[in-house]
This record gives sequence, structure tokens and C-alpha cells, in this order.
Amino acid sequence: MKNLRHLVVVLGDQLDRQAAALDGFDPALDAVWMCEAAEEATHVWCSQQRLAVFLSAMRHFAQALRDEGWPVNYTEQHPGSLAEALAQTLATTRVQAVLMTEPGEWRVQQALQAACAAAGVPLRELQDRHFLCSRAEFAAHARGRKQLRMEYFYREMRRRHRVLMDGDQPAGGEWNYDAENREGFGPQGPGFVPPPVRTAPDAITQQVLALVQERYAMHPGSVAEFGWPVKRAEALRGLHAFIEERLPDFGRWQDAMWEGQPWLYHSHISVGLNLKLLHPREVIEAAEAAWRAGRVPIAAAEGFIRQVLGWREYVRGIYWQQMPGYLELNELGATQDLPAWFWTGDVPMRCLRDAVQQTLQHGYAHHIQRLMVTGLYLLLHGVDPKQVHAWYLSVYVDAVEWVELPNTLGMSQYADGGLMASKPYAATGKYIERMSDHCRGCRFKPAVRTGPQACPYTTLYWDFLMQHEARFAGHPRMALQVKNVARLAEPEREAIRRRASAVRAGQWDAA
Ligand SMILES: Cc1cc2nc3c(=O)[nH]c(=O)nc-3n(C[C@H](O)[C@H](O)[C@H](O)COP(=O)(O)OP(=O)(O)OC[C@H]3O[C@@H](n4cnc5c(N)ncnc54)[C@H](O)[C@@H]3O)c2cc1C
Ligand code: SF4
Repeated sequence: MKNLRHLVVVLGDQLDRQAAALDGFDPALDAVWMCEAAEEATHVWCSQQRLAVFLSAMRHFAQALRDEGWPVNYTEQHPGSLAEALAQTLATTRVQAVLMTEPGEWRVQQALQAACAAAGVPLRELQDRHFLCSRAEFAAHARGRKQLRMEYFYREMRRRHRVLMDGDQPAGGEWNYDAENREGFGPQGPGFVPPPVRTAPDAITQQVLALVQERYAMHPGSVAEFGWPVKRAEALRGLHAFIEERLPDFGRWQDAMWEGQPWLYHSHISVGLNLKLLHPREVIEAAEAAWRAGRVPIAAAEGFIRQVLGWREYVRGIYWQQMPGYLELNELGATQDLPAWFWTGDVPMRCLRDAVQQTLQHGYAHHIQRLMVTGLYLLLHGVDPKQVHAWYLSVYVDAVEWVELPNTLGMSQYADGGLMASKPYAATGKYIERMSDHCRGCRFKPAVRTGPQACPYTTLYWDFLMQHEARFAGHPRMALQVKNVARLAEPEREAIRRRASAVRAGQWDAA
């Protein structure tokens, strides 16, 4: 039986050479432990793109450690769970202690803690230095506040980390420049958009792509096209190209959508960040430096930094503050099943077809597509939040539960009753019409709410307000919307209800 001082567990979203668990690693005494466990591919029906990103990035990370002479205990395609695989290792290796950086998912943390306890091996969990706000700091921020709001958290983070500050004042005089951001493209469309950096698959990635196509052929989506970064150098290349080429227009076009254009002015760095190939500090510093050098307007730099320093850290704080109960929340009592076409994109609604098909093809959709196309539809359709969560966790290459769950269950589905978002993101098809060209070629009409031509969003929006009229009547930010519903006469209400059930049943031509 082998003897080890430390067995250092490195999970698929912990590919950070600077992680605390690797501090003081001694190749003569310690070993790194990594595992491709089948349960991680199947506990939600993981898409082919997401599988390929994680497996390839893990294999590259393990190879880089081996190249440095570090012993790596790496299991490819273990048929069980991470906990079972770890238990097997602990049964055959004498280990003084298991070291692990805090996992990004409550379920995994519980399972690995239990495996170590059952084996009688001490487990030392180390703080994840990747984040700029520790769990304890977030708890301190939340303590004593009746209501949490991202904006106040963000200002605190700006001050604490001296980001976009001139002395004790926000750079440029304002904390938030959103009034200058978030335009639609207008009828002429986006014109030329600098293309994103895509990485050609190397030998390791090609092996992984072949494995995914063979073993996970029944999983959603496809890896026919694959260009995600799987090494730190590749992720850095993508970041720098974004800062130089697309950040100047990021804020302005942040919410805009265009048919057949998945990438637009977004950064596509979430996968690099969430696998920990990139550090948020270097991302924020690069954006601020570009503004200070006069290459980027303040509204774009601030809008981008708010996403990384504000939203990203905030949702992590919420996740760890609220788990495990958060997963069970269903404030609006939504019980419908996820429509089957969410796994194919085979649906006549142009906006949804575009967003779902692009998601399955690339494992990516930008924030407004996730919030105001797929998320909005599922909210209005009334889908069980757990099924919505499982879909988002399955399909996106950047999906890790600490970030996916609060965005899905809280921000997009209002299942937490307003913890993440101060009101439900409920809107008619007119929002999508304003922010994209989808409606132009669609068989439905965004301004119509009943009958076969009615835009499903518009019908379901009115149906949603009717269903939740009493709940939101006294809500300060929903009162106006609810007042409009109160004006509807019963025959109109009946026509809305009829068309809403037809839409939910996929009977698009029914009145
Ligand atoms: C329903 C829903 C599910 C989501 N699931 C995920 C997920 O699984 N993983 C994930 O990383 N993000 C998720 N997001 C947030 C956001 O949509 C993605 O971070 C973003 O689209 C990633 O693309 P990008 O890197 O091009 O981002 P950009 O638009 O270029 O933004 C820059 C960075 O800011 C951060 N960011 C922006 N918005 C958020 C946010 N709301 N929460 C946390 N970080 C944010 C991301 O790290 C992102 O890379 C979700 C949003 C919604 C509405
Ligand atoms: S009309 Fe409705 S369904 Fe069609 S693209 Fe516009 S918002 Fe989407």
C-alpha cells in the first residue's frame, strides 16, 4: 500500500495552479487526485459541449502537472461517482490527509466530506482564493440587512478592491453608467463584429471529442464545432482579444440580439473563469487599464467590470448563503414540465429556435438570451424550477452550480421570491422585438395576445399576470402591470387562457 502525506483533490472547475490546496505541494510526499466520474456527466443530462470542455481542460491540467514532475492519480471515465472513486483510492492508499479547495457545488462538497469521513481520513478544505469575496466576507455583508441588493454589494467591492476608484469616489463620478448602455442594433443590424477567438482542438482535445461522440452520443447537442479554451494560455488569448476588439462596444450592445449571431460583443470568458483558468482580478485589471489608457469608454469598462466584480461574486455569495434549501424554492408554485423541444430547438418561435439551437451547437448563449428568451419563456410557461435548473446546468459550457442556480432559480424564474431580483423578469414579445430582428421573420406577432397569430410570450405574459394577480397586486414594482390586467373583461381573459393552454400544449395554430 502506498503512503502519502497529502492527497490533493482537484475538481474539474478547480484548474488553478495558484489554488490554496496546491500550496506547499511536495512531489516526493504528495499526489494530486483527479477523476472523470460518470455521475458528473449524468446527474444532469450534460451536453456534449460541456462534457468536452471539462474533460479536455482537466486532461490538459493533469498533463501540465505531470510535465512538472508531479504525481497525478488521474482516473479516466470512472463508472460511478466522485465519492465512490475517492473511497476506492483511500482504500488502497495510506493518506495522512486529503486537501481540497472549497468545491463549487454543495452536493459534491457533501459527498466528498462523507467519503473522507467514512474512510477515517481527515479532510482539509481550503478557501477558494479565486474569488474576491470569501464566503465569510459575504456573510458579513449580508448580516443585519433586511434585503440584499447587488448594487450595494458591488459598491462595497469597488471600494474594498480599489477598482475604478479615484480616491474615495467612483471613477468618472458615477457608480453605474447603464443609462449609456444597452441599446438595440436597429434595423441595419450589427454590421461587422470582430470575431471571437476560437481554439483549434489539439491532440488531447481531439481524443476527448472522439470519446464524447462515442460514449455520450445520446447527450444533447453536438461537438461538430468546438473552439473553447482548455488551457490558461488559450483563455488569456481570448481575454486580451476581447479587451482590445470588443470591450469598447460591450456596454452599448450588451442586451442586443441578432438572428444567427451568437457571439456579438460579449467576452465569452465565463468558461475560462469558471474552470479557474483565468482569475477575475486579471480580467478586471485588464478592463480598467484599457479605460485608463483611453481605449475604452467608461460606460463599457464599468458595465463589464460590474458583471465580474459585482454579479459573479454576488451570486456565489447568495448560493453559499442559501444552500441547500435554495434548490427547493418554488415561490410561484410552477409545476409544468420542461417542453421537450428545449433539447432540440425544433419550435416555430424564431427567437427561441435561434437561442436553443445555438446553445446546443456551441454550449453558449449570452446573458439576454438566457434571461429574456429561454428564461422568460420558461417563467411564463410555468415550468418547475428544478427542471429549469437542470436544463441550464446541462447545456452551458460555463455551468457550475454556484453561478448557474441563483441566476436560473432566482434571477430568471423568481422562484426565490425576490432574493436575487426585485421583481419577476416578465415581459411580452415586444421586448424581444425591440432588442433583436427575430420577430421580423416570425410567424407570430409580438403585439397580438390571442388567436393563432399571437406571440406565445405575449399570451403567456398576460396569463402569468392573471394567475399571479393577487400575489403582485401590492408589489411596488409590479402594481402597474397588474393594474392593466385588472382592466381585462372576462371574455378577453377567457381567450387568453384558451390560447395559453394551446401554447403550453404546443398547438401553435390553435386559437
Ligand atoms: C438563466 C441564467 C443562467 C445562467 N447560467 C450561468 C452559468 O451557468 N454560468 C455562468 O458563468 N453564468 C451564467 N449566467 C450569467 C451570464 O449569462 C453568463 O455569465 C454570460 O452569459 C457568459 O457569457 P460571457 O462570458 O460572454 O459574458 P459577458 O456578457 O461577456 O460578461 C462578462 C462576465 O461577467 C460575468 N457575469 C455576467 N453576468 C453574470 C451573472 N448574472 N452572474 C454571474 N456572472 C455574470 C461572467 O463571468 C461573464 O463571463 C446565467 C444567466 C442566466 C440568466
Ligand atoms: S414574435 Fe414572439 S415568438 Fe416570434 S420571434 Fe418575436 S418574440 Fe419570439
